[in-house]
Amino acid sequence: MAETGPLILSEADCKRLVGRKTAFDAVENVFGAMARGDAYNFPVVREAIGHADALYGFKSGFDRAGMALGVKSGGYWPGNAEKGLTNHQSTVFLFDPDTGQLSALVAGNYLTAVRTAASAAVSIAHLSRQDSKTLGMVGAGHQSPFQLRAAVEQRGFESVVAWNRSPEKLKTLAAAATEAGLEFESVSAEEVGARADVIITIVSAFEPLLMADWIRPGTHIACMGTDTTGKQEVDPVLCEKATLFTDEIAQSMTIGEAQHAIKARTISEGDITPIGAVINRTHPGRCSEDEITLFDGTGVGLQDLAVAAAAVKAA
Ligand code: NAD
Repeated sequence: MAETGPLILSEADCKRLVGRKTAFDAVENVFGAMARGDAYNFPVVREAIGHADALYGFKSGFDRAGMALGVKSGGYWPGNAEKGLTNHQSTVFLFDPDTGQLSALVAGNYLTAVRTAASAAVSIAHLSRQDSKTLGMVGAGHQSPFQLRAAVEQRGFESVVAWNRSPEKLKTLAAAATEAGLEFESVSAEEVGARADVIITIVSAFEPLLMADWIRPGTHIACMGTDTTGKQEVDPVLCEKATLFTDEIAQSMTIGEAQHAIKARTISEGDITPIGAVINRTHPGRCSEDEITLFDGTGVGLQDLAVAAAAVKAA
């Protein structure tokens, strides 16, 4: 077989090649494959490198159904923003599952944002009430407008209510809502709970920002910010009250939003369902209009491989 070099895709290529629908389909398919046992993530490596305050690591896996084998390498460089660069930096390496040869090098920054937004969007498509009208957003960082744009395509949303620790930072999110033709209002966190049908939390917090009592029956919540030990976005009582879904149970219990309720022993592994089971129709998902559903989106390497493979396919 002739040796050919790997395909190289830049950030600009990925923006051109992977839209929201492509990312949604890739992530939905890989969550389904994970729940069938056709795709699995390998143990994550994440280390403080002792230079530039950086955290660096790898997320890897193999999807036998989508034939994606590879690794996302990257991490967090807190000083980058001052240099005009993104703090989170990542690159995906894809390998030919038949030969192990490097097949593609794909820039991962934009793809990380779209695959994370697609994950919450998949949960909204499968778990939120059909008549959801108000989207609640908690957080106004880099990921937040990506989340909003992907979410509002899943239901007939009419308005967005949002809270951020510094409300003045909600401007970009407000612009994304206006662009999507939705009313936008900056409100308190308690009001997000009182008014929203669907809530996305996407912050780097270490304490609960939404209390269980504030959440209305029938709400769907996608907790997307908690991806490390110690991080937290919502009251752990919500994990007891809600029907819990996740991308990967092992991560949900250790680094996801469910870690706190697991540690307090108010829930156990059997209370958490992989969203892939709902996608594959082996779990009914939401069972009533009053049920609160909570999706613990921890972020898995297979999502990165799935969207990178979609970029390669489109190229
Ligand atoms: P960012 O740094 O751009 O924004 C951080 C957001 O968190 C801001 O809204 C900020 O106001 C808020 N915040 C920070 N500390 C807070 C606190 N103590 N209390 C309340 N709010 C606080 O980050 P980003 O790129 O938008 O990412 C947001 C979070 O999502 C991060 O924690 C990141 O690690 C996580 N993330 C998760 C996935 C996943 O797959 N689940 C993927 C990417 C990022």
